[in-house]
Amino acid sequence: MPEQSRCWVCHRSDAEVSAFADVETPRQREILQQISQVTRFRADFIASADVWRKGIPKEFKEYDFKFVTSNADQFKSIRIGNGLLGEIVVPTKLLGEIVDAKKLTVDWLEKVALVLREGDGEVPGFGALSPFEKADRDLLRKMVDQFEAKWRRRIGSDGGGMVDSKRYKSGFDGLNLFDGLEFMIAEGLLYYDVQAQLLDMARRKEISSKPKRGISAVVMDGYPPIPLCSICFSVMRELSSHELAVEPAVTKGD
Ligand SMILES: [Zn+2]
Repeated sequence: MPEQSRCWVCHRSDAEVSAFADVETPRQREILQQISQVTRFRADFIASADVWRKGIPKEFKEYDFKFVTSNADQFKSIRIGNGLLGEIVVPTKLLGEIVDAKKLTVDWLEKVALVLREGDGEVPGFGALSPFEKADRDLLRKMVDQFEAKWRRRIGSDGGGMVDSKRYKSGFDGLNLFDGLEFMIAEGLLYYDVQAQLLDMARRKEISSKPKRGISAVVMDGYPPIPLCSICFSVMRELSSHELAVEPAVTKGD
């Protein structure tokens, strides 16, 4: 191809056109905001987790995690005797916080675990997984698999109805308040990591779906092809009565 490095009309180079025309889309900006939000929420979650660990009275250690978190209201009024020291009450605010955080993170994760594992289906608040790269879907599956292998527990409580050859336990089954809290904190972190990965996938998809900017050889009514940048091309197509076509053989970016 002869001199094709600069636009015949405006003389911009391919790199200049790309830089000039690469405008952030509103969706792209929105995703970036969400990514920084997730990063912030994850840090807040870690700070809260520390408060929860320290805040639960040792006397409650043997209570069942599922029981306490699904009957949090009841625990507001339960006091247990502690000899000379009087009574111990689970701080209501603390328990409420744990329950709220669990609803936000664990409940969502339980809903999507099967979809992530299969790499197919709808993720609530995100959309369908199928349009994304296989490598990305594999990574999500790996995140779930490795988490469950590490804890030898399923995220969901039903295992998706499949035969569980690995004999993992289900969700919070049999965990006391302290161990259950650790499992919940780990699931919470996985929740934020999965969210960050999904948002990064959405960000990359948004970028790659933007129209290609650069210089292409353009054919005009049978004249020899001329190099035109995408900006001048769209202006000329609007103004010209000629039929403009990008010559397929030399189209850039293929
Ligand atoms: Zn141009």
